[in-house]
Amino acid sequence: MNDTKPFLKDSSNMPRARAGEAAPAALKQPVANGEALPLGDGLSHVDTWVFDLDNTLYPADCDLWPKIDQRITLYLSHLFGLDGMSSRALQIYYYQRYGTTLCGLMEEHGIGPDDFLDFTHDIDRSSLLPNLALATAITALPGRKLILTNGSREHALRTARALGLAAMFEDIFDIADADFVPKPAAATYDRFFERHAVDPARAVMFDDLAINLIVPHERGMTTVLVVPKPGQLDHRDAFEIFRDAAPPYIDFVASDLARFLTGLAPDAPVTADV
Ligand SMILES: [Mg+2]
Repeated sequence: MNDTKPFLKDSSNMPRARAGEAAPAALKQPVANGEALPLGDGLSHVDTWVFDLDNTLYPADCDLWPKIDQRITLYLSHLFGLDGMSSRALQIYYYQRYGTTLCGLMEEHGIGPDDFLDFTHDIDRSSLLPNLALATAITALPGRKLILTNGSREHALRTARALGLAAMFEDIFDIADADFVPKPAAATYDRFFERHAVDPARAVMFDDLAINLIVPHERGMTTVLVVPKPGQLDHRDAFEIFRDAAPPYIDFVASDLARFLTGLAPDAPVTADV
């Protein structure tokens, strides 16, 4: 018999651990200060699943982002004849002021994006392994799946392929599609919604940066902050890491994306008593 129960009808219907299992690695995941997040209204209304790429579809302890980060520093060093420390300081300045180093270079120096993107994404991805659990979980989600990234399409494609995830996604909205205006700018999300005919009220956004979830929440998306597992090595910079109390624009926190999504999948074992 077909079970027509919504897989996450409301907060009382959250997936629960079966005997012998660890608790689901999300939904009730405390944030840094130990305060639990509100459970929200679930995700049964969602028909479009939107994922950031870097440090979201692969974990923060992966060495991929540090490699890109170092290439950005090296690019600035070559471009301006700077030593490493000065390049790094300039990179952080651009990031904090413009959202990305590329945006800073384009705004302040009129530099085109192609050379920058080719250089900074020219990295060894051999450390990335296919993530079967995540691929299975994303495949099982009902509806459309899209990637929304501040990186390039080529980087997203190569990374998704290495993770074994490329076939699951309908399309990628990259920094060129955003006219080189990075998240968290509102214009970028609005352009994304229009390009892909996404109704934000029926969509969910996954991102490892809390600031990138503010506008999605304002537009009506459900938001999920993807964080490292407790004790997991985190290669993100200190200024990127969310450390405050749970703000209202974050609906869920997930430290294990595959487990989070598996708990939501309609054909997953139903463990709730409703
Ligand atoms: Mg990211």
